[in-house]
Amino acid sequence: MLNIVIFGAPGSGKGTQSARIVEKYGVSHISTGDVLRAEIKKGSELGKVAKGYIDQGQLLPDALIIDILASVLDSLKDSRGVIFDGFPRTIPQAEALKKMLSERGQDVSVMLDLDVPEDELIDRLIKRGQESGRADDNLETIKKRLTVYSEQTSPLKDFYKAEGKYQHINGVGSMDAIFDEIASVISKL
Ligand code: AMP
Repeated sequence: MLNIVIFGAPGSGKGTQSARIVEKYGVSHISTGDVLRAEIKKGSELGKVAKGYIDQGQLLPDALIIDILASVLDSLKDSRGVIFDGFPRTIPQAEALKKMLSERGQDVSVMLDLDVPEDELIDRLIKRGQESGRADDNLETIKKRLTVYSEQTSPLKDFYKAEGKYQHINGVGSMDAIFDEIASVISKL
């Protein structure tokens, strides 16, 4: 069972590369950001709560997002594996994921850290905001999200290094070249 954590700052290409991993390896994809945006679109209570955090560039509380992740994971019981995109984003989330997988007799196979310099992240996110109209892709919110990433999320690199699961990926270059590096890591698992 392949359980891949795709990791990186906002704008590092997690969504794009996840789609290619799904296509090649037939795993399921869980993007917590996509789940929350779908709830906002539906106008659900959860969507209303989520919107407040997303618009501020802040993370949802761990307990809430862990519950959401658990229920999506439960719905994927028969899958060949899962790519976790945008989760975990904090140490408590990483610990919760470890526990959830171990209850299923599984573990994270690898954590792929898509490494992109900050000035390029900002350029990419501003461009994405212009093209897709994603409300949180504006300069003020982008800067907050990058601060949240460096303070709350990047410590996960050490968490996964300690677990022996960390894998650095150069996130700059053509989409094909980045995917080739990812595929060569996955093929060795
Ligand atoms: P993303 O599409 O992954 O960039 O997520 C967009 C926004 O959704 C984030 O800025 C957070 O507000 C929220 N979000 C997504 N995943 C998580 C998570 N694992 N923990 C907390 N908040 C999250």
